[in-house]
Amino acid sequence: MSDIPAETPRVARAYCPACEPDADTLLEILEVQWCAIHMPLREGLDDARVMSDAMLTGSAEAGGDENRRWCDVIHGDPTRHGRRG
Ligand SMILES: [Zn+2]
Repeated sequence: MSDIPAETPRVARAYCPACEPDADTLLEILEVQWCAIHMPLREGLDDARVMSDAMLTGSAEAGGDENRRWCDVIHGDPTRHGRRG
């Protein structure tokens, strides 16, 4: 608690408006970051679209593990199609 650096970087603190309705954005640098419970899925369609697009295009930056899992599902057992052609 007493280990506060003198020069605190101006990093926005993530907060969920629903969890912290009293948060004062004028006193604090707050960045809206919905928690898992209050995540406005129906309103934040952009994120969902990006995820689905990344899945379709196979972008490695949007979660390699997820893509690999889909690769396994689509291509079947990865050990079977090692040699092809
Ligand atoms: Zn919340």
